Amino acid sequence: MKVKTEALVIGGGAIGVCCAYYLWKKGVRVTLLEKDEIAAGSSYGNAGLVVPSHFIPLASPEALRKGLKWMFAPQSPFYIKPRFDLDLISWIWKFCQFANKRHVNDVAPLLYELGEVSRFLYEELVQLEGMQFGFDKKGLLLLYKEEGAQSIHAEAQIANELGVPIELLDIRQIKELEPNLKMEVTGGLYYPQDAHLNPADFVCNLASFLAEQGVIFHKNTEVVGFENSDGTISQVHTTKGHFIADQVILASGSWSPGIVKSIPLKIPIQPAKGYSVTIKPAKKIMSTPLLLREAKVAITPLGERLRFAGTLELAGMDSSINQQRVQAILHAVPGYLPEFASENLAHAKIWAGLRPCTPDGLPYLGRAENISNLIVAAGHAMVGISLAPVTGLLVAQIFLNKKPAIDLHPLRVGRFS
Ligand SMILES: Cc1cc2nc3c(=O)[nH]c(=O)nc-3n(C[C@H](O)[C@H](O)[C@H](O)COP(=O)(O)OP(=O)(O)OC[C@H]3O[C@@H](n4cnc5c(N)ncnc54)[C@H](O)[C@@H]3O)c2cc1C
Repeated sequence: MKVKTEALVIGGGAIGVCCAYYLWKKGVRVTLLEKDEIAAGSSYGNAGLVVPSHFIPLASPEALRKGLKWMFAPQSPFYIKPRFDLDLISWIWKFCQFANKRHVNDVAPLLYELGEVSRFLYEELVQLEGMQFGFDKKGLLLLYKEEGAQSIHAEAQIANELGVPIELLDIRQIKELEPNLKMEVTGGLYYPQDAHLNPADFVCNLASFLAEQGVIFHKNTEVVGFENSDGTISQVHTTKGHFIADQVILASGSWSPGIVKSIPLKIPIQPAKGYSVTIKPAKKIMSTPLLLREAKVAITPLGERLRFAGTLELAGMDSSINQQRVQAILHAVPGYLPEFASENLAHAKIWAGLRPCTPDGLPYLGRAENISNLIVAAGHAMVGISLAPVTGLLVAQIFLNKKPAIDLHPLRVGRFS
């Protein structure tokens, strides 16, 4: 089989489906390839937070400091599976070069701008297409304990400098926001502009909508290689035949570096495994998503369910469930919210996903320098749901050779070549 198209998107996660949406809106003929089902990767069971407030990249002094303390402790929020892996060593080396205050100051405005535009695009999507995926702009409440107070105030200061709306809350004010919540915390930081959604519903509903509009989806179709003729991808080989496209969009999350192995392109990405635990509590406890600051656990209300998500484990391309890591989440929660005893959480739906993490905490977004018809949109780490619409919009602008509305130089694809 040989199929021809204008835009060939590889990957049916939040990023791939949003690229397909904004390309389709511009009148481009789109085909999307997915090796599994739609939303089979990291986009399925994540916390679903749409958070312009996540303007601090993963590569930051705090991540480095805490990472060094936690890295080999199997029940800590961050863990590296000890092994000899040259790609991992090189990634950690690069990460350490970026984990400084200057890098945070340099990139925070860009991350915030991308997040804000993306949140606005979500609102537009709901209004324009009438799509339902549990989108709710309830803000995000960070709860912290005494030991986290200093870092919360430092974050609040950066937020103020960037003009991000925030409110520092004491216990009484938190109670006003969430009257049913029993807490053992020192205070809170509230980001009123943040939102949340059901990520699996978002990706699957958008894909179904696009299929009805004529976008072609080939599921269970794995890309296995490329034919590269003089710096152009002339064919994409898959397990279900060959595809020819004017332009190819690589949106395959953590799998992206493996897919481009046969072409001259270096996009270091480490898969950082995280888990979510979803329960159906007997009564509605809260409506604002929470972030338990020191434990690094997010709690998202999803209709009648609550999802607890967290931990970051560098263990390679392995999405198996490590019960010790799940326990790290379950044990952390009652320390903040005593009504969630860890045994009540044990009979829940557990999921693991691989966050695609770059060494500098910024996604790759742009044309591959040495392959004229390849656009890369991968490496969104902890903010792939937040940034999916703006990524799709920018990919469509790049595809049409329009000047992107946002300066994408820091996200250029060849920055580690
Ligand atoms: C526990 C956890 C909580 C998170 N919480 C949040 C959050 O609250 N907010 C937020 O913004 N982000 C969050 N994230 C991060 C977010 O999930 C990711 O950044 C995002 O899902 C990445 O989307 P993607 O489309 O790039 O990758 P994926 O969703 O992984 O999609 C890649 C797709 O490519 C397909 N693919 C791979 N190889 C091939 C191939 N050879 N051929 C064809 N198809 C292929 C895969 O099957 C997959 O479907 C969280 C992640 C985790 C793990």
